[in-house]
Amino acid sequence: MNVPEIFGENVFNLSVMQERLPKDVFRSLKKTIDEGRLLDANIAGVVANAMKDWAVERGATHFTHWFQPMTGITAEKHDSFISPTKDGRVIMEFSGKELVVGEADASSFPNGGMRATFEARGYTAWDPTSFAFIKDGTLCIPTAFFSYSGEVLDKKTPLLKSMAALNTQALRILRLFGNTSAKRVFPTVGAEQEYFLIDRKMYDARRDLVFTGRTLFGAKPPKGQEMEDHYYGPIKKRVSDFMRDLDVELWKLGILAKTKHNEVAPSQHELAPIFTVTNVASDQNQLMMETMKKVAGKHGLYCLLHEKPFAGVNGSGKHNNWSMSTDTGLNLLDPGSTPAENGQFMLFLVAVIRAVDEYQDLLRLSVASAGNDHRLGGNEAPPAIVSMFVGDELAEILDAIEEDKPYKGRGKGVLKLGVETLPELPKDTTDRNRTSPFAFTGNKFEFRMLGSAFSIAGPNIMINTAVADVLREFADELEGAENFNAALHDLVVRTIRKHKRIIFNGNNYTAEWAKEAHRRGLSELRSCADALPHFADRKNLALFERTKVFTEREVRSRMEIMLENYSKVLTIEALTMIEMGRKLIYPAVNAYISDLCAVAANKEGAGLSAASDRALLRKLSADNDALFSDADEIEELLVQSKEAGDAEKTARFFADKIIPVMKHMRACADEMEQNTAKKYWPFPTYGDILFSVS
Ligand code: ADP
Ligand code: MG
Repeated sequence: MNVPEIFGENVFNLSVMQERLPKDVFRSLKKTIDEGRLLDANIAGVVANAMKDWAVERGATHFTHWFQPMTGITAEKHDSFISPTKDGRVIMEFSGKELVVGEADASSFPNGGMRATFEARGYTAWDPTSFAFIKDGTLCIPTAFFSYSGEVLDKKTPLLKSMAALNTQALRILRLFGNTSAKRVFPTVGAEQEYFLIDRKMYDARRDLVFTGRTLFGAKPPKGQEMEDHYYGPIKKRVSDFMRDLDVELWKLGILAKTKHNEVAPSQHELAPIFTVTNVASDQNQLMMETMKKVAGKHGLYCLLHEKPFAGVNGSGKHNNWSMSTDTGLNLLDPGSTPAENGQFMLFLVAVIRAVDEYQDLLRLSVASAGNDHRLGGNEAPPAIVSMFVGDELAEILDAIEEDKPYKGRGKGVLKLGVETLPELPKDTTDRNRTSPFAFTGNKFEFRMLGSAFSIAGPNIMINTAVADVLREFADELEGAENFNAALHDLVVRTIRKHKRIIFNGNNYTAEWAKEAHRRGLSELRSCADALPHFADRKNLALFERTKVFTEREVRSRMEIMLENYSKVLTIEALTMIEMGRKLIYPAVNAYISDLCAVAANKEGAGLSAASDRALLRKLSADNDALFSDADEIEELLVQSKEAGDAEKTARFFADKIIPVMKHMRACADEMEQNTAKKYWPFPTYGDILFSVS
C-alpha cells in the first residue's frame, strides 16, 4: 500500500484546489482559508464547479452540507447533483450558491427554549478552513449552522468564534514581545480516542446496548482488567484487521491517524491522530467516530463509543491535547530556548493557569453528560474537581518567580523574566500523572476529562474563550506599561499568587485531595445536575458577552439542551431497564425457580436434603421480587418526573430520585445472574461480551 498516495485522496485539499482552480481563484480562496473567513461569493461558482467535477470523477452523485447541531453528532441532508435538460436527460450541476449557503429545516433539532428561532429557517455556510471530502458517494461540505437572525444553532460556529477571539488577543501579546511576523494564532488539538470493540452478535443480543449504548445489567466476570494484561498488549488478528482498515479509511479522508493500541479494559482500544487546527481536529474527530462504527460493521464487530459501556472495568475517555500555534509554526506553549522566549512562555502559561482557575466550572460542565458521570471521580478518570498538573520543575520555577527567590535548578540567583533562558523542561512523554484533569506535558496541555462520545467542540470553546479573555486583560495592562519587563514580571507574579490554588501535582484519585481541594475553595461538581446550571452563572455570561462567543440567550438555550439531554438519556435507560427486567430477567429467573422447586421436591421425595436448593430459592425469590417492585417504582417516578418543573429541576429529580432506584434494581439483577444457571440467563453476560473477539 502506498500511504502517501492514498492520503487525502477523498479530500478537496489545497493541492487539488491548486491543480484545478484558475490561479487567481486559487489565490483568493487560499487567502480566505489562511485568514479564516467565509468564502468570497465572487469565486464561489468557479470553486463549486471544480469541486463537483472532482467529486463526480470519484463517483460522487450527491452533495451535503455537513454540520454539527446540538445533538452532539453530525447531520447531513443529501441532494443529488442532477439537473434536468430539455431533452429529458440530466447533467450534473453544482452552483456557487449551493456551495456557499444551504437551507436546513431547524425545527426538529434540539432548541433549548429558542423554539421561535428554530422554527424559522436554519442556514448552513461552508467553513472553507475545513476541506470538503467524499464519504459514501456524497461530497460533504463542512458547514456552520445558524438561524436567519444569526443565532447560533450548532457547535461549530461558537468554536470558530472562540478561535477568532483567541487569535485577536494572542496576537496582541505577541506584538508586545516584538513578534511582527506572525499573522495568525490558532489553537491546536490532538484528540486521543478510546473505544470498545465487541462482536456484533453480542451487541444485537443486548437491548440495553442497542437502546442506550451501555449495559444496564451485568455481573462482574471472573476476569476483568485486574491482570493488567490488555494495556498495550498484543492486538488480536480480528482487531488488527479492523484497525488497519480504519487507518486506511481515515488516511483517505486526510485524517492523520497515528497511534493505535490496546487500552486497559478487555476489548478496549485507543486511536490517536497527529494534532491539527482545532476546528479541523473537531470535524475530523466526528468523522473518526463515524468511520470507526462503519468499519467495525464490515468486520462483524460493533464499536461502542459510550463512556461507560461496562461497570467494573474502565470506561472510555478522550484526551484533548491543546496548545496555541502561530501561522509561522511557533508553539506558544513551548518553553523555547532563548531568554526572550522565557517571558513570553511564562505569560501564556500563567494565562492558561488563570483561565482554568477562573472557569473551572465551565470546563467541568463542558464534559458533563449522563455517560461521563459514571467515569469522573470513579478512580479511572480524573475526579469532578478541575485542577492542573505542571510537573515539579515548572512548579519550582513558578515558586521561585513568585517568591523572588533563587531557582535551585539554576544556582545563579533569581530567574529574570525576559532576560534569562529557562532550564530545559522534560517533555512528559510517559503520561506520568494520569490522574490530573488538566496536565502540562512539556509543550501542550492535556485535558483529560472528556468522555469518549463527546464532540470536542464544547470543551475547546471553553478553553479558547477563557484563555482569550485572560490574554485580553493581560494585553490591556501591558500595552500601557512604561517599563515592559517590570510590568510583565509583576503581572506574572500576581497571577501565580492569585491562581496557584488550581495547581496540584499529586494523585487526584485520593480522598485527601478532595478534602484539600475543598479547603482551597475549588469546586466539585459531581453530576450533570450539579454542573450544568453553572453555565448561566453571572461571571460566565459576562465572559461570553465580552468575547462575543455566545449571547445570554444562546447560553440559556444550550444549558437547557444539555440538561434535557441528561434527563432524556436517563429516561431511555430507565425504560430499557424496566423492559429488560420485566420481560427478560423476571421470567427467566421464575423459570429457574420453578425448575429448582421441582428439583427440591424430588430430592425431598427421595429422602435427600434440599437445603442448598431451598436457600438458593429464597435468595432468588427475594431478589426477583425486589427487581419487580423496583421496576414499578421507576415507572411511577418517571411519571412524577414530568411534574418536576423546569429542565434543571427535572435533571435534579433524575439524579436524586431515579438513579438510586436504578442502581438498586441493577444490583438485584446482577446478584441473580450470579445465582442462576447459565442456560436460563436471557442475554450474553459480561464474560461473553468482553472476551467475544478473538
Ligand atoms: P503522549 O501523550 O503519549 O506523550 P504525544 O505527546 O506524542 O503523546 O501526543 C499525544 C497527542 O497530543 C497526539 O495527538 C499529538 O499529536 C498531540 N499533540 C502533540 N503536540 C501538540 C500540540 N502542540 N498541540 C496539540 N496537540 C499536540
Ligand atoms: Mg494521553
